[in-house]
Amino acid sequence: MMMDLKGLNQQEMEDYAKTIGESAFRGRQLFKWIYNKGESDFGPMTDIGKALKEKLSHICYVSQIKPVNRVKSANGDTEKFLFELSDGNHVESVLMRYEEHLGFGRTTACISTQVGCAQGCAFCASGKHGFIRNLTAAEIVDQVIQIQNTIDETEERVSNVVIMGIGEPLVNYDNVLKAIHLINHCDGVAIGIRHIAVSTVGIPALIRRLADEKLHIRFAVSLHAPNDEIRNKIMPVNHKFPISELIDACKYYQKTTERRITIEYMLIDGLNDSPAHARELAKLLDGLFVMVNLIPLNPVEHFPYKRPPMARCRAFIAETEKYGLKSLLRNERGTGIDAACGQLRNRVEESASDLL
Ligand code: SAH
Repeated sequence: MMMDLKGLNQQEMEDYAKTIGESAFRGRQLFKWIYNKGESDFGPMTDIGKALKEKLSHICYVSQIKPVNRVKSANGDTEKFLFELSDGNHVESVLMRYEEHLGFGRTTACISTQVGCAQGCAFCASGKHGFIRNLTAAEIVDQVIQIQNTIDETEERVSNVVIMGIGEPLVNYDNVLKAIHLINHCDGVAIGIRHIAVSTVGIPALIRRLADEKLHIRFAVSLHAPNDEIRNKIMPVNHKFPISELIDACKYYQKTTERRITIEYMLIDGLNDSPAHARELAKLLDGLFVMVNLIPLNPVEHFPYKRPPMARCRAFIAETEKYGLKSLLRNERGTGIDAACGQLRNRVEESASDLL
Protein backbone atom coordinates (compact mmCIF):
# COMPACT_ATOMS: atom_id res chain seq x y z
CA MET A 1 0.00 0.00 0.00
CA MET A 2 1.15 3.52 -0.74
CA MET A 3 2.19 5.42 2.36
CA ASP A 4 0.64 8.84 2.99
CA LEU A 5 3.37 11.15 4.27
CA LYS A 6 0.97 13.89 5.32
CA GLY A 7 0.17 13.47 8.99
CA LEU A 8 3.61 12.15 9.96
CA ASN A 9 5.54 14.24 12.44
CA GLN A 10 9.21 14.98 11.98
CA GLN A 11 10.39 11.94 13.90
CA GLU A 12 8.03 9.66 12.00
CA MET A 13 9.17 11.16 8.71
CA GLU A 14 12.80 10.49 9.65
CA ASP A 15 11.94 6.94 10.66
CA TYR A 16 10.11 6.39 7.42
CA ALA A 17 13.08 7.65 5.41
CA LYS A 18 15.26 5.15 7.26
CA THR A 19 12.89 2.26 6.62
CA ILE A 20 13.20 2.92 2.89
CA GLY A 21 16.97 2.98 3.11
CA GLU A 22 17.46 6.76 3.16
CA SER A 23 18.94 9.02 5.79
CA ALA A 24 16.96 10.77 8.52
CA PHE A 25 17.99 14.01 6.84
CA ARG A 26 15.83 13.09 3.83
CA GLY A 27 12.90 12.73 6.19
CA ARG A 28 13.51 16.23 7.51
CA GLN A 29 13.64 17.61 3.98
CA LEU A 30 10.34 15.96 3.14
CA PHE A 31 8.83 17.27 6.36
CA LYS A 32 9.72 20.82 5.43
CA TRP A 33 8.47 20.55 1.87
CA ILE A 34 5.18 19.07 2.92
CA TYR A 35 4.22 21.32 5.82
CA ASN A 36 6.30 24.44 5.41
CA LYS A 37 6.10 24.82 1.66
CA GLY A 38 2.76 23.08 1.27
CA GLU A 39 4.14 20.88 -1.49
CA SER A 40 2.35 17.66 -2.45
CA ASP A 41 4.28 16.67 -5.55
CA PHE A 42 7.81 15.35 -5.33
CA GLY A 43 8.68 17.07 -8.63
CA PRO A 44 9.32 20.60 -7.29
CA MET A 45 11.34 19.38 -4.27
CA THR A 46 14.59 20.85 -5.55
CA ASP A 47 16.92 19.41 -2.92
CA ILE A 48 15.79 15.84 -3.52
CA GLY A 49 17.50 13.98 -6.35
CA LYS A 50 15.77 12.58 -9.38
CA ALA A 51 16.35 8.94 -8.48
CA LEU A 52 14.90 9.39 -5.00
CA LYS A 53 11.88 11.24 -6.37
CA GLU A 54 11.27 8.35 -8.72
CA LYS A 55 11.57 5.87 -5.87
CA LEU A 56 9.24 7.88 -3.62
CA SER A 57 6.59 8.16 -6.30
CA HIS A 58 6.20 4.37 -6.27
CA ILE A 59 5.91 3.88 -2.52
CA CYS A 60 4.42 6.99 -0.97
CA TYR A 61 2.40 10.11 -1.66
CA VAL A 62 1.27 13.32 0.01
CA SER A 63 -2.51 13.41 0.44
CA GLN A 64 -4.47 16.60 -0.09
CA ILE A 65 -7.96 17.59 0.84
CA LYS A 66 -9.64 19.09 -2.19
CA PRO A 67 -11.02 22.65 -2.21
CA VAL A 68 -14.43 22.38 -3.88
CA ASN A 69 -15.88 25.75 -3.00
CA ARG A 70 -14.47 29.12 -2.00
CA VAL A 71 -16.64 32.12 -1.28
CA LYS A 72 -15.53 35.60 -0.30
CA SER A 73 -17.66 38.07 1.68
CA ALA A 74 -18.53 41.31 -0.08
CA ASN A 75 -15.81 43.29 1.72
CA GLY A 76 -13.25 40.50 1.34
CA ASP A 77 -12.51 40.15 5.04
CA THR A 78 -13.99 36.67 5.38
CA GLU A 79 -13.54 33.75 3.09
CA LYS A 80 -15.02 30.33 3.41
CA PHE A 81 -13.56 27.12 2.05
CA LEU A 82 -15.29 23.84 1.55
CA PHE A 83 -13.02 20.82 1.27
CA GLU A 84 -13.76 17.35 0.05
CA LEU A 85 -12.02 14.51 1.88
CA SER A 86 -10.77 11.35 0.24
CA ASP A 87 -13.87 9.43 1.37
CA GLY A 88 -16.23 12.02 -0.13
CA ASN A 89 -17.10 13.73 3.17
CA HIS A 90 -16.85 17.51 3.45
CA VAL A 91 -15.39 19.90 5.98
CA GLU A 92 -15.28 23.64 6.04
CA SER A 93 -12.75 26.20 7.13
CA VAL A 94 -12.97 29.95 7.32
CA LEU A 95 -10.33 32.58 6.75
CA MET A 96 -10.78 35.86 8.59
CA ARG A 97 -8.76 38.98 8.01
CA TYR A 98 -8.51 41.55 10.75
CA GLU A 99 -7.07 45.00 10.41
CA GLU A 100 -5.27 46.14 13.49
CA HIS A 101 -3.86 49.46 14.47
CA LEU A 102 -0.25 50.34 13.58
CA GLY A 103 -0.59 48.34 10.41
CA PHE A 104 -0.35 44.91 12.01
CA GLY A 105 -3.15 42.72 10.77
CA ARG A 106 -4.07 39.16 11.49
CA THR A 107 -5.06 36.46 9.08
CA THR A 108 -6.81 33.73 10.98
CA ALA A 109 -7.78 30.30 9.72
CA CYS A 110 -10.66 28.66 11.58
CA ILE A 111 -10.42 24.91 11.06
CA SER A 112 -12.55 21.84 11.73
CA THR A 113 -11.66 18.70 13.66
CA GLN A 114 -14.54 16.33 12.89
CA VAL A 115 -17.03 15.60 10.15
CA GLY A 116 -20.21 16.65 11.93
CA CYS A 117 -20.34 16.83 15.70
CA ALA A 118 -21.83 14.68 18.45
CA GLN A 119 -22.33 17.46 21.00
CA GLY A 120 -25.77 18.52 19.80
CA CYS A 121 -25.70 22.12 21.07
CA ALA A 122 -29.14 23.58 20.35
CA PHE A 123 -27.85 26.75 18.71
CA CYS A 124 -25.21 25.22 16.50
CA ALA A 125 -25.56 24.19 12.87
CA SER A 126 -22.56 21.82 12.99
CA GLY A 127 -24.27 19.04 14.86
CA LYS A 128 -27.49 19.13 12.91
CA HIS A 129 -26.59 16.10 10.84
CA GLY A 130 -24.96 14.24 13.70
CA PHE A 131 -21.45 12.95 13.96
CA ILE A 132 -19.74 11.07 11.14
CA ARG A 133 -16.08 10.68 12.03
CA ASN A 134 -12.97 12.27 13.43
CA LEU A 135 -10.61 14.02 11.06
CA THR A 136 -7.10 12.62 10.84
CA ALA A 137 -4.13 14.79 11.85
CA ALA A 138 -3.37 15.07 8.12
CA GLU A 139 -6.85 16.41 7.35
CA ILE A 140 -6.66 18.90 10.20
CA VAL A 141 -3.27 20.37 9.30
CA ASP A 142 -4.10 20.25 5.60
CA GLN A 143 -6.87 22.81 6.01
CA VAL A 144 -4.21 25.34 7.00
CA ILE A 145 -1.85 24.23 4.23
CA GLN A 146 -4.49 24.41 1.50
CA ILE A 147 -5.71 27.80 2.66
CA GLN A 148 -2.13 29.07 2.72
CA ASN A 149 -1.55 27.68 -0.76
CA THR A 150 -4.59 29.45 -2.16
CA ILE A 151 -3.58 32.81 -0.70
CA ASP A 152 0.12 32.46 -1.59
CA GLU A 153 -0.42 34.51 -4.74
CA THR A 154 -1.14 37.62 -2.64
CA GLU A 155 1.88 37.01 -0.40
CA GLU A 156 -0.46 36.87 2.54
CA ARG A 157 0.41 34.53 5.41
CA VAL A 158 -1.96 32.73 7.73
CA SER A 159 -0.80 34.17 11.06
CA ASN A 160 -3.24 32.52 13.46
CA VAL A 161 -5.13 29.27 13.64
CA VAL A 162 -8.27 28.78 15.68
CA ILE A 163 -9.45 25.23 16.16
CA MET A 164 -13.07 26.31 16.40
CA GLY A 165 -14.65 24.99 13.26
CA ILE A 166 -16.86 21.95 13.07
CA GLY A 167 -16.44 19.33 15.76
CA GLU A 168 -15.32 19.00 19.36
CA PRO A 169 -11.51 19.04 19.30
CA LEU A 170 -10.95 17.40 22.68
CA VAL A 171 -12.78 14.20 21.78
CA ASN A 172 -10.43 13.84 18.80
CA TYR A 173 -7.59 14.45 21.21
CA ASP A 174 -4.60 12.65 19.71
CA ASN A 175 -5.15 13.85 16.15
CA VAL A 176 -5.78 17.42 17.26
CA LEU A 177 -2.68 17.44 19.42
CA LYS A 178 -0.58 16.04 16.61
CA ALA A 179 -1.98 18.62 14.20
CA ILE A 180 -1.16 21.42 16.67
CA HIS A 181 2.46 20.26 16.73
CA LEU A 182 2.61 20.11 12.92
CA ILE A 183 1.11 23.58 12.64
CA ASN A 184 3.48 24.96 15.26
CA HIS A 185 6.76 23.20 14.32
CA CYS A 186 9.35 25.66 12.96
CA ASP A 187 9.91 23.42 9.93
CA GLY A 188 6.19 22.66 9.77
CA VAL A 189 3.55 25.28 9.07
CA ALA A 190 5.52 27.42 11.56
CA ILE A 191 2.75 29.30 13.30
CA GLY A 192 3.66 30.44 16.82
CA ILE A 193 2.09 28.38 19.57
CA ARG A 194 0.51 31.48 21.11
CA HIS A 195 -1.21 32.06 17.78
CA ILE A 196 -3.01 28.74 17.93
CA ALA A 197 -6.29 28.51 19.82
CA VAL A 198 -8.44 25.56 20.81
CA SER A 199 -12.06 25.92 21.83
CA THR A 200 -13.98 23.23 23.67
CA VAL A 201 -17.54 22.54 24.69
CA GLY A 202 -15.99 21.73 28.09
CA ILE A 203 -15.11 18.14 28.94
CA PRO A 204 -13.43 18.27 32.36
CA ALA A 205 -11.18 15.17 32.14
CA LEU A 206 -9.87 16.20 28.74
CA ILE A 207 -9.31 19.79 29.86
CA ARG A 208 -7.11 18.41 32.63
CA ARG A 209 -5.28 16.21 30.16
CA LEU A 210 -4.67 19.18 27.88
CA ALA A 211 -3.48 21.23 30.86
CA ASP A 212 -0.85 18.60 31.59
CA GLU A 213 0.61 19.09 28.09
CA LYS A 214 1.56 22.61 29.25
CA LEU A 215 1.16 24.05 25.80
CA HIS A 216 1.14 27.81 25.47
CA ILE A 217 -1.84 27.72 23.15
CA ARG A 218 -4.83 29.98 23.60
CA PHE A 219 -7.51 27.96 25.30
CA ALA A 220 -11.20 28.76 25.10
CA VAL A 221 -14.24 27.26 26.74
CA SER A 222 -17.74 27.63 25.30
CA LEU A 223 -19.69 28.40 28.43
CA HIS A 224 -22.69 30.33 27.07
CA ALA A 225 -24.64 30.26 30.33
CA PRO A 226 -24.15 31.45 33.91
CA ASN A 227 -25.91 28.48 35.53
CA ASP A 228 -26.80 24.83 34.98
CA GLU A 229 -30.46 25.51 34.41
CA ILE A 230 -29.78 27.58 31.29
CA ARG A 231 -26.78 25.57 30.11
CA ASN A 232 -28.76 22.33 30.32
CA LYS A 233 -31.31 23.80 27.92
CA ILE A 234 -28.81 24.55 25.18
CA MET A 235 -25.79 22.29 25.69
CA PRO A 236 -26.43 18.56 26.26
CA VAL A 237 -22.84 18.10 27.48
CA ASN A 238 -23.84 19.97 30.63
CA HIS A 239 -26.06 17.10 31.77
CA LYS A 240 -22.97 14.95 32.02
CA PHE A 241 -20.55 17.58 33.27
CA PRO A 242 -22.25 20.38 35.18
CA ILE A 243 -20.75 23.85 35.40
CA SER A 244 -19.09 23.28 38.77
CA GLU A 245 -17.01 20.42 37.33
CA LEU A 246 -16.17 22.50 34.29
CA ILE A 247 -15.01 25.43 36.43
CA ASP A 248 -12.91 23.09 38.57
CA ALA A 249 -11.22 21.78 35.42
CA CYS A 250 -10.62 25.37 34.25
CA LYS A 251 -9.02 26.16 37.61
CA TYR A 252 -6.78 23.13 37.19
CA TYR A 253 -5.93 24.27 33.65
CA GLN A 254 -5.03 27.71 34.91
CA LYS A 255 -2.98 26.48 37.84
CA THR A 256 -1.06 24.07 35.61
CA THR A 257 -0.43 26.28 32.58
CA GLU A 258 -0.50 29.75 34.17
CA ARG A 259 -2.38 30.93 31.09
CA ARG A 260 -5.42 33.12 30.82
CA ILE A 261 -8.52 31.26 29.65
CA THR A 262 -10.97 32.64 27.12
CA ILE A 263 -14.61 32.15 28.01
CA GLU A 264 -17.02 32.19 25.12
CA TYR A 265 -20.43 33.44 26.03
CA MET A 266 -23.03 33.71 23.32
CA LEU A 267 -25.71 36.30 24.00
CA ILE A 268 -29.13 34.83 23.29
CA ASP A 269 -32.18 37.08 23.40
CA GLY A 270 -34.18 36.62 26.58
CA LEU A 271 -32.31 33.49 27.63
CA ASN A 272 -28.94 34.50 29.13
CA ASP A 273 -28.54 38.20 28.34
CA SER A 274 -29.91 40.17 31.31
CA PRO A 275 -27.79 42.24 33.71
CA ALA A 276 -28.64 39.66 36.39
CA HIS A 277 -27.11 36.97 34.19
CA ALA A 278 -24.03 39.15 33.76
CA ARG A 279 -23.66 39.36 37.53
CA GLU A 280 -24.15 35.63 37.89
CA LEU A 281 -21.46 35.08 35.25
CA ALA A 282 -19.04 37.41 37.00
CA LYS A 283 -19.58 35.57 40.27
CA LEU A 284 -19.11 32.19 38.61
CA LEU A 285 -15.80 33.24 37.07
CA ASP A 286 -14.50 34.87 40.21
CA GLY A 287 -11.07 33.43 40.99
CA LEU A 288 -10.26 32.59 37.38
CA PHE A 289 -8.10 34.80 35.16
CA VAL A 290 -10.26 35.03 32.06
CA MET A 291 -11.16 37.05 29.06
CA VAL A 292 -14.84 36.83 28.14
CA ASN A 293 -15.75 36.88 24.48
CA LEU A 294 -19.36 37.95 24.18
CA ILE A 295 -20.76 36.75 20.88
CA PRO A 296 -24.26 37.74 19.81
CA LEU A 297 -26.02 34.61 18.58
CA ASN A 298 -25.75 33.84 14.91
CA PRO A 299 -29.31 32.84 14.14
CA VAL A 300 -29.64 29.27 12.81
CA GLU A 301 -32.67 27.47 11.51
CA HIS A 302 -34.71 25.39 13.99
CA PHE A 303 -33.35 27.24 17.01
CA PRO A 304 -36.16 29.39 18.34
CA TYR A 305 -33.97 32.16 19.75
CA LYS A 306 -32.74 35.44 18.36
CA ARG A 307 -29.76 37.69 18.72
CA PRO A 308 -30.37 40.34 21.41
CA PRO A 309 -30.63 43.99 20.38
CA MET A 310 -27.27 45.79 20.47
CA ALA A 311 -28.30 47.93 23.46
CA ARG A 312 -28.88 44.80 25.50
CA CYS A 313 -25.48 43.39 24.53
CA ARG A 314 -23.85 46.66 25.59
CA ALA A 315 -25.73 46.66 28.89
CA PHE A 316 -24.51 43.11 29.51
CA ILE A 317 -20.90 44.00 28.91
CA ALA A 318 -21.18 47.12 31.04
CA GLU A 319 -22.52 45.02 33.91
CA THR A 320 -19.69 42.47 33.65
CA GLU A 321 -17.17 45.31 33.71
CA LYS A 322 -18.62 46.62 36.94
CA TYR A 323 -17.59 43.33 38.46
CA GLY A 324 -14.09 43.55 37.07
CA LEU A 325 -14.55 40.99 34.30
CA LYS A 326 -12.54 41.63 31.19
CA SER A 327 -14.94 41.23 28.28
CA LEU A 328 -15.12 42.00 24.61
CA LEU A 329 -18.14 42.16 22.38
CA ARG A 330 -17.31 40.28 19.19
CA ASN A 331 -18.73 40.79 15.78
CA GLU A 332 -19.75 37.60 14.17
CA ARG A 333 -18.27 36.97 10.77
CA GLY A 334 -19.45 35.22 7.69
CA THR A 335 -23.20 35.36 8.20
CA GLY A 336 -23.73 36.63 4.68
CA ILE A 337 -21.80 33.76 3.13
CA ASP A 338 -23.10 30.90 5.30
CA ALA A 339 -19.68 30.73 6.93
CA ALA A 340 -21.07 30.96 10.40
CA CYS A 341 -20.71 27.82 12.45
CA GLY A 342 -21.29 24.85 10.22
CA GLN A 343 -23.74 26.43 7.85
CA LEU A 344 -21.78 25.84 4.67
CA ARG A 345 -21.43 22.12 5.12
CA ASN A 346 -25.13 21.88 5.94
CA ARG A 347 -25.97 23.69 2.77
CA VAL A 348 -23.91 21.21 0.77
CA GLU A 349 -25.15 18.13 2.60
CA GLU A 350 -28.74 19.32 2.31
CA SER A 351 -28.51 20.02 -1.38
CA ALA A 352 -26.80 16.66 -1.82
CA SER A 353 -29.66 14.93 -0.04
CA ASP A 354 -32.13 16.91 -2.16
CA LEU A 355 -30.65 15.12 -5.15
CA LEU A 356 -31.15 11.64 -3.73
N1 SAH B 1 -16.80 22.30 19.86
C1 SAH B 1 -15.98 23.45 20.13
C2 SAH B 1 -15.52 24.21 18.91
C3 SAH B 1 -16.48 24.42 17.79
S1 SAH B 1 -17.77 25.61 17.97
C4 SAH B 1 -16.68 24.36 21.09
O1 SAH B 1 -17.81 24.06 21.47
O2 SAH B 1 -16.11 25.34 21.50
C5 SAH B 1 -16.95 27.16 17.98
C6 SAH B 1 -17.73 28.23 18.74
O3 SAH B 1 -18.87 28.68 17.97
C7 SAH B 1 -18.27 27.73 20.06
O4 SAH B 1 -18.07 28.69 21.05
C8 SAH B 1 -19.74 27.57 19.74
O5 SAH B 1 -20.50 27.55 20.90
C9 SAH B 1 -19.98 28.76 18.84
N2 SAH B 1 -21.24 28.72 18.10
C10 SAH B 1 -21.88 27.65 17.60
N3 SAH B 1 -23.05 28.01 17.03
C11 SAH B 1 -23.14 29.34 17.17
C12 SAH B 1 -24.13 30.30 16.77
N4 SAH B 1 -25.23 29.95 16.14
N5 SAH B 1 -23.88 31.59 17.07
C13 SAH B 1 -22.74 31.97 17.71
N6 SAH B 1 -21.79 31.12 18.09
C14 SAH B 1 -21.99 29.82 17.84
